[in-house]
Amino acid sequence: MTNDKENYDLIVVGAGPAGLTAGIFGARSGLKTLVLDKGICGGLTNEATLIDNYPGFRRIGGMELIEKIKAQTADYAEIQELEGVVTIEAPEHVETMRVVTEKGEYRTSAIILATGTKKRKLGVKGEAEFLGRGISYCATCDGYFFRNKAVMVVGGGDSAVRGALYLQNIGAEVSLIHRREELRAEQYLQTALKEAGIHIFWNSILKEIRGEKVVRSVLLHDKARDSEEEVPVEGVFIYVGEDPANSLALQLHLMLDANGYISTDRGQRTSRTGIYAAGDVTGGVRQIVVACAEGAVAASSAYDDLVG
Ligand code: NAP
Repeated sequence: MTNDKENYDLIVVGAGPAGLTAGIFGARSGLKTLVLDKGICGGLTNEATLIDNYPGFRRIGGMELIEKIKAQTADYAEIQELEGVVTIEAPEHVETMRVVTEKGEYRTSAIILATGTKKRKLGVKGEAEFLGRGISYCATCDGYFFRNKAVMVVGGGDSAVRGALYLQNIGAEVSLIHRREELRAEQYLQTALKEAGIHIFWNSILKEIRGEKVVRSVLLHDKARDSEEEVPVEGVFIYVGEDPANSLALQLHLMLDANGYISTDRGQRTSRTGIYAAGDVTGGVRQIVVACAEGAVAASSAYDDLVG
């Protein structure tokens, strides 16, 4: 297929598990494929200390898994890290699309958006002020600084529970606050949390993060008792979910669902011809194995539509 230096058959935007897998399948089918990422390969998977539900690996760290997938992708496709896509020009009824990045521009016949999600902010007083001075969204990145210190984890999903367990394991004094009386996390993580003896503030809302130069305490509101309590902590780890990284999808006027995730058909085709989406940016079951599968399907659809 195409051979010119800046012309590709397929450009994949985002080099997490979905994008890297799309790279493997696209390039192996004979499409000249480029995978671009504004950061380094891996996305949020890099922050996972332990992955124990990806078939073939009973236990593997996120970075290690990404290293392996990246090496495999690089056998077939071209990967450019630290090259964010700024705009995509895809006029209706024109077969070639233009992808403008921070470093250059490319032409392509097909695009797979695998842009993932971004972490949601809690939106309370003190959150922005103390970012990097006690506030974190990543236990694996920052947890080490909080050994032997009191920290509060916010949220009731898999990420919050995993974060809490990781922090306790490295020696922090951990408590968790959740807005309901039931966690959303997988049952086995809930059991691990219970066994670890981590205190949970149930039915409670974190109202404010207080401190001087660094975090010193959090103000909690117990909804059941309608009471407030100031709890001394030096760290706050926020895990209140994710939102789709959909700015390119919005730019392209792709059909999105009510929560902003890109709508696709079973072949990962979006509402625009030649544009596909895969992984967390499409919502659904947000697990690495699903992201990889969607990447493979998207690349196969691109091949079918271009060649088949
Ligand atoms: P999530 O499952 O959406 O959970 C977010 C948690 O934050 C929920 O418990 C939610 O409460 C709470 N929350 C949301 N907004 C809040 C607010 N404003 N104030 C207080 N609490 C708030 O997010 P996640 O844990 O980041 O997981 C994202 C996806 O990745 C999920 O599909 C998850 O299964 C997957 N994941 C899987 C693993 C794994 O080990 N397999 C690890 C990480 C992530 P409610 O429960 O009341 O809604």
